[in-house]
Amino acid sequence: MAQVILLGTGAAWSGPDRENTFMLVRGKTTNVLIDCGGSPTQRLAHIGVKPDEIDHIILTHNHPDHIYGFPLLLLNAWMAGRQRAINVHGLRGTIRSAKNILKALDFHLLPNFTPIHYHKIFPNSVTSLSPMGEFDIAAAPTTHFVPTLALRVTERATGEAFAYSADTSPNDNVVQVARNVKFFLHEATMLDEPKEGHSTAEEAGEEASKANVGELILIHVPPNVEPKKWRAAAKQNFRGKVRVANDFDVIEF
Ligand SMILES: [Zn+2]
Ligand SMILES: [Zn+2]
Repeated sequence: MAQVILLGTGAAWSGPDRENTFMLVRGKTTNVLIDCGGSPTQRLAHIGVKPDEIDHIILTHNHPDHIYGFPLLLLNAWMAGRQRAINVHGLRGTIRSAKNILKALDFHLLPNFTPIHYHKIFPNSVTSLSPMGEFDIAAAPTTHFVPTLALRVTERATGEAFAYSADTSPNDNVVQVARNVKFFLHEATMLDEPKEGHSTAEEAGEEASKANVGELILIHVPPNVEPKKWRAAAKQNFRGKVRVANDFDVIEF
């Protein structure tokens, strides 16, 4: 059985109890980090995982709250003497930003730096990525200010899956990639007033209902989030279980 450990659950503007949204998918032999905000090494230390244990990093898009921990994680992996390559997956523009961040910080001056293998993703609607250890991962483009990927992660051995909307307004590709998953981590940056590029808790409920998921977990929530209100708003449109994510929640799939 695999786990998702939520290393952060806040929106771009996070509060005192929430780091920006990112998470670790932890299997028996494979660790996949989805997004890389905050201080990843500090967050991983909480759960006893070292930067050199991460096999793959998937960056959903190039906004700072999803990518700004990337150079620090790589620096720490190099400090730990890692020479095993780390795999970084993302859209063309996201990969370009990741490379540019390392360039801006003069990483080329660090001797014997950890090898990085970049993998560009080209999704049309729902696209399967190359297998990552014991996981099969599919991606789909969302509706956001910059090109962004929603993800579905399936544990090959059991066929169990979860999905993560990343940042998005309601979008049919996201519904498709999340269809019938055990749980759906959907962003709910607002409560009930729609704004371009993001979703309300109400909309997240509607998307969960369309995708026929088992459980809806609201994530990427603002500092003023009132979990009861967010849950109630989502519940208006979704009959299944709903909760608001908290940092360091561990969810099995
Ligand atoms: Zn965001
Ligand atoms: Zn964003």
